[in-house]
Amino acid sequence: MSYTTDVLELIERRNPSEPEFLQAAREVLESLEPVLDRHPEYQEQCILERITEPERVIMFRVPWTDDKGNIHVNRGFRIEFNSAIGPYKGGLRFHPTVNLSILKFLAFEQVFKNSLTTQPIGGGKGGSDFDPKGKSDTEVMRFCQSFMTELAQHIGPDTDVPAGDIGVGGREIGYLFGQYKRLRNEFTGVLTGKGLNWGGSRIRPEATGYGAVYFAENMLSTRCDSIAGKVCTVSGSGNVAQYTIEKINDLGGMAVSLSDSSGTIYDPDGINADKLAYVMELKNIRRGRIKEYVEKFPKAEYRAGARPWGIKCDCAFPSATQNEISAADAAKLVENGCFLVSEGANMPTEPEGVDIFQANGVLYGPGKAANAGGVAVSGLEMAQNAQHVTWTREEVDMRLREIMKAIHTQAYEVAEEYGRPGNYVVGANIAGFIKVADAMLDQGLV
Ligand code: NDP
Repeated sequence: MSYTTDVLELIERRNPSEPEFLQAAREVLESLEPVLDRHPEYQEQCILERITEPERVIMFRVPWTDDKGNIHVNRGFRIEFNSAIGPYKGGLRFHPTVNLSILKFLAFEQVFKNSLTTQPIGGGKGGSDFDPKGKSDTEVMRFCQSFMTELAQHIGPDTDVPAGDIGVGGREIGYLFGQYKRLRNEFTGVLTGKGLNWGGSRIRPEATGYGAVYFAENMLSTRCDSIAGKVCTVSGSGNVAQYTIEKINDLGGMAVSLSDSSGTIYDPDGINADKLAYVMELKNIRRGRIKEYVEKFPKAEYRAGARPWGIKCDCAFPSATQNEISAADAAKLVENGCFLVSEGANMPTEPEGVDIFQANGVLYGPGKAANAGGVAVSGLEMAQNAQHVTWTREEVDMRLREIMKAIHTQAYEVAEEYGRPGNYVVGANIAGFIKVADAMLDQGLV
């Protein structure tokens, strides 16, 4: 039995009811075999056993009252997974499906993603099973204030710096920041994704979506190609999906789909800037459902309960949630001629789907590389806050492009170095791992 198999068995025994975490851990550990063979010191120092165990898991009660005065109790979490290379950093997710397994998978992925960004940030993730859908602003505010009342005891600008994720956008970050400031009586960069006029960074809302498209451009450039003229499917209709489409349009591609958990819209004429502005108003202000798109633009079609992967495209940008591309979806995409997948969401493709993409020569950018633009600009927000400066849009965008290029170069070159050319999964996992593992070795058994 190999070291990797032993450790996988150990974590399966220890976390039997955490399927998403085990899926993420298996995907990373299985790709590390070649680096473990070259570096026996990692096994001698039990790095795999240590790197798969969070440094700290915080779980807490979040009581709040709705507008009618009824009491509700949700569960809050913060997973502080690894701080070897910097303070814990990673988003907060508010969604009814949130549980320990999902947040541990996200925090684990975040460790390697943050390492790839070339910035000094460790990995964490948190959130709650609270569902913001259908809640009034005042209900969301009361929930956020209660959540932060506990979380404030565990975070800080040099300790743990949360950001947004599913269900946590600018409105929620505002309420969370307000409560932190009130409790601590300090105005610090304890959260990222803040409003522009109170410490936020330009391009932070855009960063994950833009970054996923920049990563796609980098992959395409290895084949002397570009996004211009490509038909692209996009899933989700939230933050990541919206700015993915904005950047696809900027670079001359055509996005033809959007979705939410109820269904998919297909617009064969393309979702141009005017249509995207409608979607932003629909989703971010009116907080409506994507099916309303076809009432406004009747040439588009709504497919209830469907995902976008049956639509013919050149490039796919999954931007909703984990495990949203099954093996059958992956096979359909390949059959329809899709030759690039850049993951805006975290772990959106099931492992068998990844195998299908790789076996068919699809340019496949895994989430921890392709969607790292969001956390990278969060890192830039922390840097601006620490220096009390604000960079221009051009400056931040230029840095984001450079970071996405550097992530692509690392993943590409490390994959070649370890004999798996073109395999961005292996390249990203190994490159992300080495930096964290070496820092852990340097810092002793802590
Ligand atoms: P938003 O909350 O803004 O949007 C999420 C979108 O995904 C919504 O359209 C939502 O539809 C859909 N969705 C959520 N859960 C499901 C589900 N179980 N099945 C089908 N659709 C679903 O979130 P973001 O855009 O911020 O996040 C999207 C993905 O990107 C997530 O995987 C997140 O982890 C990842 N990501 C986000 C980053 C960021 O900076 N925001 C950074 C890196 C990764 P509905 O309204 O019906 O729930």
